[in-house]
Amino acid sequence: MTEEELKQFKASLSITAVARSLGLDVVRGKFRCFCPKRHVHEDRTPSVSISEERGYFRCWVCEDVRGDVFSLVQQVKGCSFPEALNYLREMYPFLLPGGTATAATSSRAKNQVENLEEPPQETPVEGPVTEDERKKIILNFLKMLSPVDDTPAAAWLARRRIYKPVWDKMLLRTIDDYGKLNEMLKNTYDQEVLQYVGLFNEKGNLKFYKHPLIFPYLDPQRRAFYFQSRAIDSSVQPKEMNLRGTVPYPYNMSALDEKTGWIYLCEGVVDTLTFLGQKIDAVGIPGVRSFKVEWLPLFKNKNVVLCMDKDNAGREATKYLQEVFGNAGIRTIVLGEGMEHLKSSMKEGEDVNDWFGGKH
Ligand SMILES: [Zn+2]
Repeated sequence: MTEEELKQFKASLSITAVARSLGLDVVRGKFRCFCPKRHVHEDRTPSVSISEERGYFRCWVCEDVRGDVFSLVQQVKGCSFPEALNYLREMYPFLLPGGTATAATSSRAKNQVENLEEPPQETPVEGPVTEDERKKIILNFLKMLSPVDDTPAAAWLARRRIYKPVWDKMLLRTIDDYGKLNEMLKNTYDQEVLQYVGLFNEKGNLKFYKHPLIFPYLDPQRRAFYFQSRAIDSSVQPKEMNLRGTVPYPYNMSALDEKTGWIYLCEGVVDTLTFLGQKIDAVGIPGVRSFKVEWLPLFKNKNVVLCMDKDNAGREATKYLQEVFGNAGIRTIVLGEGMEHLKSSMKEGEDVNDWFGGKH
């Protein structure tokens, strides 16, 4: 597990869910201190506050009862950091890279943890450019790309019933002349910088040679500092590539406008675009493990329709998201639940795009 993966894992964990798994009775963001002897009446009125969004807990009496989700496990179980990490990995295998309920066997998890004795440092490693410069480079890279119109990417999208109004709204882009773009970037930035920001591979060339369709993650000002790329040749694996680093916010976050209403939460950009084509408000996450509890305030005033894939991994993800949103007082329903008997319902193994008639 790399530091980046560990950071992502931590960000996707619900501290409330973890506290409950440890037997703590969390009521309205509070629970009784697990050092009751230090409290009057053994802490009958709970003294420990828990912040779901910040992933933090704190006892107002005990100086040392506080910390993040890992400290919580360590303190309650009286164990080391690697043991706490292992406990969480076994409980939430579907939040791990490539993990499903059955894929992460405990012995493998243990082997991977052995190298990781200390919790990672909070301060990031110094890169060759600042965070602001990194963002500018990504922004500039996206400006160098072409609109998808009249390119193979356009045909690929149209086969999935995603048409021009959506391409324009979401500023979809494509790499139509890889060689030229590769040269342009090399002439503009240092090799080290291009690799650091995640645009170039170790061989010193632009990534995305086989992934020419680019989905920028627009913020409410319609700028993007993050994107995903998609292969349009069906033989290419993996189908999608993410930019280095963690996902900063959900895809199409502008739909999270604090107005009362429904929002469809999809797995992947293609499903999100499918809903947008139907004029349905939707946001996307690359997968359940890229969901961050700190995003919960973005969903303020929304009811969330969970639209994960109809397979085992999708069902695991749905169950978990129901719990996370529920802990934050946000109502969820599951897409298609209660209509399984209908002929038109989503079939096993289908995603939202298949359901709306997209062809692969
Ligand atoms: Zn206490």
